[in-house]
Amino acid sequence: MCLTVKAALSSRKVGKMGGRSEASTNPSHLLQRIRGFTLVLIEDLCKGRTSLVSIDRYRTHCKLIGPGDKCSCNSDMTDGREIISMEKESHANRLDVLLRVLLITQKLLLEGKHASKRDIYYMHPSIFIDQANVDRAISDTCILLHCSRHNLNVVSAGKGLVMGCLRFKESNRMFNCIRRPSVAYPVPVYVEEVKHIMGFARYILVVEKETVFQRLANDKFCEMNRCIVITGRGYPDVPTRRFLRLLIDELSLPVYCLVDCDPFGFDILLTYRFGSMQMAYDAKLLRIPEIRWLGIFSSDAEAIGLPRRCLLPLTHRDKKKAEALLQRCYLHQQVPHWRLEIEKMLQREVKFEIEALSVFSISMLSEEHLPAKIQEGRHL
Ligand SMILES: [Zn+2]
Repeated sequence: MCLTVKAALSSRKVGKMGGRSEASTNPSHLLQRIRGFTLVLIEDLCKGRTSLVSIDRYRTHCKLIGPGDKCSCNSDMTDGREIISMEKESHANRLDVLLRVLLITQKLLLEGKHASKRDIYYMHPSIFIDQANVDRAISDTCILLHCSRHNLNVVSAGKGLVMGCLRFKESNRMFNCIRRPSVAYPVPVYVEEVKHIMGFARYILVVEKETVFQRLANDKFCEMNRCIVITGRGYPDVPTRRFLRLLIDELSLPVYCLVDCDPFGFDILLTYRFGSMQMAYDAKLLRIPEIRWLGIFSSDAEAIGLPRRCLLPLTHRDKKKAEALLQRCYLHQQVPHWRLEIEKMLQREVKFEIEALSVFSISMLSEEHLPAKIQEGRHL
C-alpha cells in the first residue's frame, strides 16, 4: 500500500499553496510540520510500506508559441508535481539528501541560528556530492513546508551591492550610507532583520552589472541625483531582490532598471520584474511589478548616434534566447510594450553593452544619459 506524504501532511491541516500566506511560517509551526513529515515516513518504513513524497512544481510563466495560444498558468502557478519514491535508487539518494537537510533546518530553527547553503553543503559533502543537490533539497523543503527559504534560517551569501541616500539597521548594526553615498555596501543577507530604513532619495536605480555600479560610484551619481543605486551583479540573488522589495515598500520610491541591450540583460530585467523560474514557488514575495525599464534600448543606439563599431552582432545563442523569452506568457499579457523592444533587437540583429556609451565620454552615462532619461520619463 502506498501513502503519499503530501496527503498525510494535508490531513494535518497544512495550508495548501495559494493559501500559503495562511500557513504559518513561525518556527514552532515549521518544526511541527517537519516532525509530521518525518513521522509519516518512519511509520511507513516500520510497516514495510513504500512512501511516496509528492512535491508540487511551480513556474512563473508558460510558453505561448502561436498567436492564438492561451495562457495555461493557474492562479497559484503550480505546474504539476514530482513524485519521489523510495523504490528507485536515484530517488532514495534524493530523499536521503532531503531528510538530512530537514534535520539541519530543524536544528537551525530550534537553536535560532542561521546557515548559508554552502555551510549546509559542508555538513555532509560526501553524501551531498554537489551543491546543486543541497539547493534542490532546500527548495523542496520550502515547497513541502509552505514557506520561504529565509523562514528556514537558510541564507545565501549575499552578492548584491547598494549605495546612496539611505540608512538602515541590520541586527543592531547601523549602515549609514548617507555619510558616504558613493561607497558600496553589501546588501544585507538577513533581510528580515533590517529595520529603521530612512532616506531622502528620489528614486532607486537597479543596474545589471558591477562595472556600471562602479562607474556611477566614481561619478558620484547618488550625490548628484539624490538616489539609491543597487546591483545584483548579474542575475540577482534572493537577498538582493528581497532587500529591493523592502526598500520600495518602506520608502515608496519609483524604481528603474538599467540592463545591457542583449537577451541576457533583458532576462535579468525579467527576473527582477517577475521572479526566477528556480524560485517560482516564492515569486509572489520576490517580484517587483513596479520596476520601470530605463534601457538600454536598441533605439538608443540611433538616438545617441552610437558608432557601428560599438554594436555587436547577435549570436545564434542570443537569437535562440530572445526567441524563447518572447514566448513567455507574461510578456504577452503584462508588458507587451517590452516585447516589442525585444522584437526590435531581433530585427536589427545587433546588441550592445551599457559601457558602449563611454565611446563619447567616460561619464556620459551618469552625467547626461541617465539623468535625462529619468527627467523626461523615457522608460518602459
Ligand atoms: Zn501562462
